[in-house]
Amino acid sequence: MKKAVKYSIIGAAGAVAGLNAFRAAKFVPEKKDWGELSEEKVDVEKACEHLSKAISIPTVSYPEKEKVDFSQFDKFHDFLDEAFPLIHEKLEKEIIEEASLIYHWKGSRSDLDPIALLAHQDVVPISKGTEDDWTHPGFSGFNDGDFIWGRGALDMKNHLMGVMEAVETLLEEGFEPERDVYLLFGQDEEVVANENGGAKSIMETLKARGIHLDCVIDEGGAMLPVDIKGVLNNKHLCGIGIAEKGYADFEISINAKGGHSSQPPKHSAAGILAQAIRDLENHQFDAELRPFLVDLFTNIGKNCTYPVRLITCNLPALKPLMKTVMKQIPPAASMIRTTTGVTMLSGSPAANVLPQKASATVNFRMMPGVSTQDVENHIHKVIRNKDIEVTCLKKKEASAISPTDSRSFKIIEKLCMQESKDNIVAPYLVMGGTDACTYEPICENIYRYSPYRAGVDLLLCTHGTNERIPVSSIGPGVAFFKRYIRLASAEN
Ligand SMILES: [Zn+2]
Repeated sequence: MKKAVKYSIIGAAGAVAGLNAFRAAKFVPEKKDWGELSEEKVDVEKACEHLSKAISIPTVSYPEKEKVDFSQFDKFHDFLDEAFPLIHEKLEKEIIEEASLIYHWKGSRSDLDPIALLAHQDVVPISKGTEDDWTHPGFSGFNDGDFIWGRGALDMKNHLMGVMEAVETLLEEGFEPERDVYLLFGQDEEVVANENGGAKSIMETLKARGIHLDCVIDEGGAMLPVDIKGVLNNKHLCGIGIAEKGYADFEISINAKGGHSSQPPKHSAAGILAQAIRDLENHQFDAELRPFLVDLFTNIGKNCTYPVRLITCNLPALKPLMKTVMKQIPPAASMIRTTTGVTMLSGSPAANVLPQKASATVNFRMMPGVSTQDVENHIHKVIRNKDIEVTCLKKKEASAISPTDSRSFKIIEKLCMQESKDNIVAPYLVMGGTDACTYEPICENIYRYSPYRAGVDLLLCTHGTNERIPVSSIGPGVAFFKRYIRLASAEN
């Protein structure tokens, strides 16, 4: 190679590397004055006692309503009345359906749209046979000084009680909101894809009264510690859920003659079904990096260490590569496409009998914008055998996507950033379901965020054994709700 050409290639490569180094140096979180966090009085000891008591009342919900012990909900309501005397005295309380609650705190400016804080009162049962696996009994609410133990500690009596403590303390302090404040506590959120649950009845009640909500805050997002040596050092990821995936169970089935297994046809119903399942698994839904995901990765990328930022500062150019990689990693893939999970199978009742019907249940989790009808069309399109029958068993449509430039999103963002400059606030897609999307007919700004610091190890205990919450997160949680109510209930 001629010397001049060689030098110009080296020179060009050097210039590109230099430019990249410059971009990486500039690719940092925006310097913004988030202001000071307001001082908030919280009686942590009392809040812990209350949470322990709340956990000890087993408000368990079941898909079969007749199995629900509503006397436990009555007991829970009596406890709330007693624990929060000012709320009992000053807020209007209504019971909707069997046990769902509406608390209405009248503001001074009833011409403005009210705000709503959501929570569900119910918890999932403790799986039979696992009772003894718990370090402290599942409905004890035991406080060992470090943790409060029991079902609902993280999902979500912590959040419900945090809201109640915040309102009670604000009342004690003589705070008066401008906007009306609603506390809306459903009774059956844990019943998956519940189309006519408590939250729906609450929403219908408000809607019938002509109420349009300015904003809603519910469970879904969390404050997750992240510490990846050399990549992200000692940060907290505050994920604010701006949307949630849909849910649909479909049965796909095929009928056949059946008969004795000593004279089988080339493909029995089970074999034909197996081919249909492979068709489904081989033809996944399209993947797409939505703008909010790009926002999420950009915010995380900006907080990475300098060597990592040399890569993350090129995010727009890396999008196709990221999509390819994410599709190969199931938890990442679930963020960018509608997922297909084949879960249950049934065939013949005996080993020597050919099935007269073979069926599979397939669980789909839809991206916002993909409807149950789209899923059904997809199934019909990709399964080559047109004799396969397709039935929808259960569904809950994906939510709308709430904006990230609303007043209420910015309040949550600001409070997170005031708490620590090392927090990373990012919008994200909630994989499970919450009651929040039920409020879409009367609200556009719906956010899912629980201000409780909990690592992945703790979050994995929700719905499982040893659900517990760190005592150290109780005070900051209540303080967050106090600040949130102060800001969100103001006119601007
Ligand atoms: Zn929950």
